[in-house]
Amino acid sequence: MKAVPTANKVSTVKEKNLENPYLLLTPGPLSTSGSVREAMLRDWCTWDDDYNLGVVEEIRSQLVKLASDTEDYTAVLMQGSGTASVEATIGSVISDEGKLLVINNGAYGARIAQIAEYLNIAHTVLNCGEINPPTPAEVEQLLLEDKTITHVAVVHCETTTGMLNPIEALAPVVKKHDCVLIVDAMSSFGGIPIDLAGLGIDFLISSANKCIQGVPGFGFVIARRNILSQCKGHARSLSLDLYDQWHCMEKNHGKWRFTSPTHTVRAFHQALSELQKEGGIAARHERYSTNQSMLVQGMKELGFRCLLSEDLHSPFITSFYSPEHPDYDFHRFYEQLKEKGFVIYPGKVSDADCFRIGNIGEVYPADIGCLIKAVSESMYWAEC
Ligand SMILES: *Cc1c(COP(=O)(O)O)cnc(C)c1O
Repeated sequence: MKAVPTANKVSTVKEKNLENPYLLLTPGPLSTSGSVREAMLRDWCTWDDDYNLGVVEEIRSQLVKLASDTEDYTAVLMQGSGTASVEATIGSVISDEGKLLVINNGAYGARIAQIAEYLNIAHTVLNCGEINPPTPAEVEQLLLEDKTITHVAVVHCETTTGMLNPIEALAPVVKKHDCVLIVDAMSSFGGIPIDLAGLGIDFLISSANKCIQGVPGFGFVIARRNILSQCKGHARSLSLDLYDQWHCMEKNHGKWRFTSPTHTVRAFHQALSELQKEGGIAARHERYSTNQSMLVQGMKELGFRCLLSEDLHSPFITSFYSPEHPDYDFHRFYEQLKEKGFVIYPGKVSDADCFRIGNIGEVYPADIGCLIKAVSESMYWAEC
């Protein structure tokens, strides 16, 4: 393999320009490091080994290593936002004879069902409501009742509420019934250890701009090789043919079928090396967990209440009830926080008035301390 020249350091770009005016406390795109953004300052040829072998193939093998220490998995990168990778997976791995069970307890579970609907894929939905975790018993009952189900899809962290779904408890039931297990780990992969092989996860989907801390532009699927390799011809879409994308990357050593988001991919390569430098997934998980518990504790001390009970929280994003004060207005609160350097997120739950605060990305416990102070200074409704 040829040596890859390091990115040209463009001396005219002053550090100042690499600074952001505010911290994104969102589920992604999120605040990235200056060095990740700087990695985008040169152009790459998609036919050249510097890019395909030096960037894409390294990313693919590092993703597989992050996921498992077995040889059973392979990684496919796919253009588009995270949803494109979910759609590519759902549309490419279930044959016309198959049937999908979607476990739904939020907007992202509902989106998987919507994808199946669009693509005319036979499916059934387990609706748990938005604030309840799915239980192994209800999944098992559905699998016992309907023997035609071949695939089960579940969201790991349901970003709608911030709930971490219990995949460790659900996976054995899915495997007992010989179904293929698809996990949307968009907002969790890279930020919490996930034992793909141990749980029997067959397809795990995530994207560049979440816990790996890259910038938006593509998603990725970590797939069990011997299942993906049997998916030829299943796709309902040319652009989102996961098998064909994988086949092209395998055969041509990192070549994407169609124009790849080169700058984004290069930033992701840098983000992966920064994840290693931080100490890998375990260390990142610890930082996020500290951020999240500091956030909850600080907000509670200011009088805010969490939507979920704490045992259901993920270490990534938290939903808080909006204050019930008649003078409270989300946008006014939002603007005050933004002025102080923090961007928070609106709520997404259908039947509760909430807002959300994410704590992933280049966000450290000291930032959470500053945020809590900023929140306390932005509670204009409490002053009257
Ligand atoms: C972010 C996210 C997605 C993908 O969203 P895009 O806007 O398409 O990137 C899918 N599932 C979950 C759980 C997410 O958090």
